[in-house]
Amino acid sequence: MTTTIWRLSQAHLNLFATCPRKFQYIYLEQFMSPCIGEQPNLNLGTRFHRLMQQRELGLPTEAILEGDEPLKQCFQALAKAAPDLVYSQANTWRKAEHLRTYLKGKFLLSGIYDLLILTPTKAQIVDWKTYSKPPKSQTIANNWQTRLYLYLLAETSNYSPEEIELIYWFINPKQTKSMTVSYSTEQHQTTEHDLNQMLTQLTAYWEQYQNHHQPFPQVEESKGYCLSCQFTIPCNRHPQKDQGEISLDEVEEMSI
Ligand code: SF4
Repeated sequence: MTTTIWRLSQAHLNLFATCPRKFQYIYLEQFMSPCIGEQPNLNLGTRFHRLMQQRELGLPTEAILEGDEPLKQCFQALAKAAPDLVYSQANTWRKAEHLRTYLKGKFLLSGIYDLLILTPTKAQIVDWKTYSKPPKSQTIANNWQTRLYLYLLAETSNYSPEEIELIYWFINPKQTKSMTVSYSTEQHQTTEHDLNQMLTQLTAYWEQYQNHHQPFPQVEESKGYCLSCQFTIPCNRHPQKDQGEISLDEVEEMSI
C-alpha cells in the first residue's frame, strides 16, 4: 500500500491555522492557489526577489536596475541600510532561494529561504518583504512562515536553535527596516508540539472528509476572518460590518 506524502509550506500551515474549511476549499478542492494573495506590491516583490537571486548567482543586474526605477530605489535603500548583507562577506556561505525540506511522518514540510547565510557559529535566514507597512512583531513571531523556517533549519542542520535567527527586511525607498526573530530550544519544542497537534488534526479531518464526506470545520465567526474571505456564500456566513477587526490581512500578507 502506498502512502501519500503531503507537501506543506508555510502558506498551507497559515491557511489551516486560520480556518480548516478554507484550507479544504483552497488546498484540497483547489478553488484557488493558497500562495496567491491580493498583494498590491506583489510584482515589485517578485522583481526584487529575482534581482537578489541574480546577484547571488553572480549574474549582471545593472541593465535590470537601469530599466526599473522602483526596483532600483528599493535596492539602493537596502544597500544603504545593510551594506554587509548586500555585499558578500569573507568566511560566509550564502545561497539565495534555498529550499529546505523535512519529512515528518507523511508530511513533507518545506520552505524556501530568500537568502541563507552561514558562518561556523551562526545561521541567518533572510526574508525580503516589500510591504509598505510591516506587521506587528507579535504577528510576525506567531506566523507560520517564521515558525516553520526556524524549525526547518534547526531540524536539518547542526546549528542549535540558539545559533539560528530569521531577519525580515521590509524594503521601502522611504523607510527600510529590519526585524530579527531569534530562536531558542524552548521555542523549538513549542513549535514541535504545535506542529504535531496541527498535523494530527489535519489527518483526522482528512479521514472524516475522505471516508464520510464530512467537511473540515469552519473557524468561529466571532474571530472576524470571514469578513475578508471569498467563501462566505458556500459557508453560509454573512459577515456584519460591526463584527470586529479584520486580522486576516496580516496573516495573508505574511504568506506571500
Ligand atoms: S467564510 Fe469563514 S468559515 Fe468559510 S472558509 Fe471563509 S473564513 Fe472559513
